[in-house]
Amino acid sequence: MVMNISKEIIYSIKNLFGNNSNEIYIHEPSFADSNANKYVKDCIDTGWVSSSGEWVTKFEELISEYTGAKHVVAVSNGTSALRLALFTIGVCTNDEVMIPPLSFVATANAVSHIGAIPHFIDIEPKTLGMCPIALEQRLNKIGQKKGDKVFNKITGNKISAIVPVHVFGLPSKINEIKEICAQWNLPLIEDAAEALGSSIINGSKRTHCGCFGDIGIISFNGNKIITTGGGGALLTNDSEIAKLAKHLSTTAKLSHPWEFFHDQIGWNDRLPNINAALGVSQIEVLQTKLNNKRILHEKYKIIFRDYGELEILEEAKNCQSNYWLITMRILGNNPEILKNKILEEAHSLKIFLRPSWILLNRLPMYKKNPSGDLSQALNQSKRLINLPSSPQLVLKINKNK
Ligand SMILES: *Cc1c(COP(=O)(O)O)cnc(C)c1O
Repeated sequence: MVMNISKEIIYSIKNLFGNNSNEIYIHEPSFADSNANKYVKDCIDTGWVSSSGEWVTKFEELISEYTGAKHVVAVSNGTSALRLALFTIGVCTNDEVMIPPLSFVATANAVSHIGAIPHFIDIEPKTLGMCPIALEQRLNKIGQKKGDKVFNKITGNKISAIVPVHVFGLPSKINEIKEICAQWNLPLIEDAAEALGSSIINGSKRTHCGCFGDIGIISFNGNKIITTGGGGALLTNDSEIAKLAKHLSTTAKLSHPWEFFHDQIGWNDRLPNINAALGVSQIEVLQTKLNNKRILHEKYKIIFRDYGELEILEEAKNCQSNYWLITMRILGNNPEILKNKILEEAHSLKIFLRPSWILLNRLPMYKKNPSGDLSQALNQSKRLINLPSSPQLVLKINKNK
């Protein structure tokens, strides 16, 4: 019985993209119908390939214009953007930073890279993002205010930031989380690595993911909705934060025509000009990619609408998702049996479906970290499968489907 359903599901996907299609990946970059060649060639022709140049400034301006963030600092990748954001906001060694366990490992690693400690908070099922109720309960249970700071009563460590993640591009319950951060006077940093193009609408106002907190970060890795090869950016409305982040990302060097004076220990985090040139060509075609994603999402909803065993995840009310990774949720009591069958079946036909990440608190280096009750994360992680989501797959959709 289970066998038949999993076969049917995989053949519907195969059929959607034409039966003679080869490997189908989860998310591939595409530079078709863009100025990628032209812009990258400009860097090569002029020699401006490295850590400064006009394309970096242009890319930052375009991201700022698109997201509405007043300041954008382009950096080498999303992980360094997050590490820089945490450091800039004042997270120190041995501080605790609250993050959800259902995320890419970089969310926890960036915290660890500055010697701080990821503290896991459960997720909620609709958006798969950090659950505001779980956050509030955890803070009420272990949080203790001392002056304008918050400490973990059990470990004695300072809690110094909250980092929700907009998982798979679905906007999380960020307004509710922001309120809790305000009550506790805790900085809010959004991991919007996967969420370029995702936003929340409130009345006539649309706010882009990454622009709710003190700082937001985006990734431009090869598998994200747009790519610079490798790259990332910090978004903020605070000019002081932006200035400090930019300074720290450029070896903390003071501007001078010939002196090399560095006023603290900085990093070499800047995005190279050649990557930024690629990024400019990508942001020019972002809207097409977003439109194609919505077409793909609709198609999956249609082909799976009669399956009581599963659902295709949807953006919450008043939210717009970029549908970075379109995700199937298996319903019912024993989701893992069907999930594993689907994955096996798919991989044997070279459709490289993926389960969601193994929860971060189950990885060897994060097993002993502080955490609240994580039962919803555990429950959801048994049910999720990411579907092929490359925007250019739209071109492969069987014409008679
Ligand atoms: C991709 C990603 C990152 C890290 O970005 P890189 O550019 O790969 O370093 C961080 N957090 C999440 C949720 C991501 O998906």
